[in-house]
Parts: sequence; structure tokens; C-alpha cells
Amino acid sequence: MICKSCGRANELGARFCKSCGAPLESNESMQQNNTNQSENVCQQNNQYVMPESMYSGTTRMTKKEFNECANIKSITKNITAAAIIAYVIGAITFIVNVVMAGNIAGLVDVMIVVGLGLGIHLAKSRACAVIITAYSIFNFIYMILLAGMPGGWLIIVCGVYSIIYTFKYQNAWNKYQQTGQI
Ligand SMILES: [Zn+2]
Repeated sequence: MICKSCGRANELGARFCKSCGAPLESNESMQQNNTNQSENVCQQNNQYVMPESMYSGTTRMTKKEFNECANIKSITKNITAAAIIAYVIGAITFIVNVVMAGNIAGLVDVMIVVGLGLGIHLAKSRACAVIITAYSIFNFIYMILLAGMPGGWLIIVCGVYSIIYTFKYQNAWNKYQQTGQI
């Protein structure tokens, strides 16, 4: 099924385009359009603007369908990468602080970082991204005061990275809710 909005081929029976999120025509209306094949080819090559009336009455994609779109996947991949950094920091903190140094209080840090990482990963939460950034700045200052030198760079990277992409994701979702386009 060819998307009239962006020209991408989608699997048969798909309700929405995997690339741009535009609603796809049902089989019946596609058969009707077969008579206008040549006209359709033109529309694929040019930017086909979907009439407003086609959107009203068409239901929006679910969040799951939305997440399957190519453009959105590139955002969620980065969110997952940011979360993996958080998991790695949690694992390093656990091994170095808790296991090797025997500092049980280090478990709190492990739980904070892994918990916020899960919130970023699964809920794509902007709040978790902001909190982990605030935590990383606090940690950075704490390291200067305690060890006399800055530390915890990786968690700052994780914080900024997750802020950028969770906000990108939520903006794309809000825009989609309003316009029906990704
Ligand atoms: Zn499309």
C-alpha cells in the first residue's frame, strides 16, 4: 500500500503510514482508485497534501503504532541509548562502590540512576530526564567538594542526551495529536 503523503510502501492492511503517520486508504477505496493509476503516480512524486476532510473522522494512531513509525523510531533509539548509559552507570556504581568498596549507601545511588533510567526508557519521561540531569549536576559539584576534582561526566552526558530526546519525542507526539502528521 503506497502512502499518498510521502510515497513510502507500507504492508497491506496497515492503517497508518510507517514513515509519516498519514492514514492509509482502505482496500475498497484503493480498488476504486485503480482506475486513476496514472494520476496516483503523479501524486506520489509530488508532495501530496492530504485534504483536511480526510483527517477529520479518521482516528489517530495509538501510541504503539506511533512508536513504530520510522521517524519516531530514530528518536526512541536515542532515548534507549540514553537509558542504557544510565544502566551502565548504575552497574559501575554497584561494582565500584558497593561490591569493591563495601559502601552499602552506594545502593541508593544505584537505585536512583537505574530507576530514572527505567522511567526514561519505558515512559520516555521528560521529568525523569530533568531529574537525572539535576542529580548529575549535584553529583558533579559534590565530587569537586569531596575529591577536589570534577567527576561523573558520563551521567551528565546521559542527562543532557535524555532531555534532548524525551522532549523531542513528546513534541512529536503533541504535534501528531494536533495535526495528524509526524
Ligand atoms: Zn507516508
